[in-house]
Amino acid sequence: MLFADVARVSREVARTSARSRKTVLLADFFRATEPDDVLIAIAYLAGRLPQGRLGVGWAALRDRAEPAAVPALTVREVDAALTAVAEVSGTGSQAGRRALLQDLFGRATADEQHYLLGLLTGEVRQGALDAAAVEGLAAATGAQPAHVRRAVMLAGALEPVARALLAGGPDALGEFALTVGRPLLPMLASSAKSVAEAVAKLGPSAVEEKLDGIRVQIHRDARGVRIWTRTLDDVTARLPEIVAVTESLPAREFVLDGEVLAFDAAGRPRPFQETAGRVGSRVDVAAAARALPVNAVFFDVIAVDGHDLLDESYDRRHEALESLVPPELRVRRAVVTDPADPAQVRAAEDFWTVTLDRGHEGVVVKAADSPYAAGRRGASWLKVKPVHTLDLVVLAAEWGHGRRTGKLSNLHLGARAEDGSFVMLGKTFKGLTDALLDWQTERLRELAVSDDGFTVTVRPELVVEIAYDGVQTSPRYPAGLTLRFARVIRYRPDKFPQDADTVAAVRAAHGGG
Ligand code: AMP
Repeated sequence: MLFADVARVSREVARTSARSRKTVLLADFFRATEPDDVLIAIAYLAGRLPQGRLGVGWAALRDRAEPAAVPALTVREVDAALTAVAEVSGTGSQAGRRALLQDLFGRATADEQHYLLGLLTGEVRQGALDAAAVEGLAAATGAQPAHVRRAVMLAGALEPVARALLAGGPDALGEFALTVGRPLLPMLASSAKSVAEAVAKLGPSAVEEKLDGIRVQIHRDARGVRIWTRTLDDVTARLPEIVAVTESLPAREFVLDGEVLAFDAAGRPRPFQETAGRVGSRVDVAAAARALPVNAVFFDVIAVDGHDLLDESYDRRHEALESLVPPELRVRRAVVTDPADPAQVRAAEDFWTVTLDRGHEGVVVKAADSPYAAGRRGASWLKVKPVHTLDLVVLAAEWGHGRRTGKLSNLHLGARAEDGSFVMLGKTFKGLTDALLDWQTERLRELAVSDDGFTVTVRPELVVEIAYDGVQTSPRYPAGLTLRFARVIRYRPDKFPQDADTVAAVRAAHGGG
């Protein structure tokens, strides 16, 4: 497949807002795609590079070779060239990368150069592409969209499903069954403003503690235990005490969902940074585990002894959880069987107060009849936190003054738009500790695409959790909205830009503003 074809379809898909039209465009595209090209093609359409970060600075992209007259580059040639760029290391690596890129740009037409630049800078990222691609793949191959979606959630990614579908048609979806030992994307939660609102929305439900730790999915089978994080990184070797606890549970095979965190002697959660540091550290794990032992607290079970529980209700899964996991390893909860009973709603609100008093960050309210919607931010899990927070993407940062001279300080914050681009909602330099300032300065310089001496524009890759007091209208910002008293809580390296909150959600949560 020609790189020019991907560039063209990418542009057309980004330009149209009608979902049905996107499906038609993508279906036509997939019909013409070889199964072996589809991994790269989907990544490019979504604006991702399969190589991840290339370590290419703006300088390497500024002076580009003369464009070619006729499109001839294939997606595989582009991929091979970018792999070569990613593999350059050692002294002179910047120059080496620049030379390889110059060569690649010289083989691209003006149109292709433009698209390539967008890929390298992250500007053509389309967060909503995966959902549209599911529809397009279904239409191209005659599969049911719901079946494709389920396969994607079980595979943990779209690409392998696309390849299997294009190579083998709808029957190939059968190979994506829930398999113990193969991680799937965890189910995510949306937000609600209060426990009462969440319960009113969900009906019969359970109000669970929201623990501020690291999300884990733990698989156990005859081969042993494996632990994955929310982004499906394998952290088994870093959590020996969790492996030991999991081995003691009374079943042959299972998949559990929960949170890992450290508690202090009084049973209160230790700061998130401590847990994150512990789970992140790979060196001398035994000493780290002695210095800061962590605990697993489970809230869901997805499979047990040959039974796939994905389509079972929350209530049924919780029964299975109770027979597998002892109470001290389960999240605390309050059950609301009748949301019309004011005494039950009051009890749920009391549970929220007690949970905050225990030092937890809030609650997650879960509909009693809801299946496990892996990989989706469904409406059947609603998190409630005391302050408004948003996960936003850093779009740029301004050089600081005074004490902050030489540091990148004032952050430009973006929310996700319908088309996957990011819309600036405001700026903040509040809440930043010196350590965070140092860290973000270094990180943002790596992500820089331009610097006018005042503002450094970056690839939209870093997700930051922001607290704010409210939303107000503002003609200065493109969405006509801005945040009041925005302040940084922390960076969220566990999240992707496509996990960031949407402009529509910000608008809806505040009644238009
Ligand atoms: P957030 O990261 O703010 O979107 O909140 C969702 C995260 O809360 C999940 O990914 C889990 O890591 C965490 N969490 C803590 N307690 C629970 C719970 N009881 N149920 C679901 N998620 C929980």
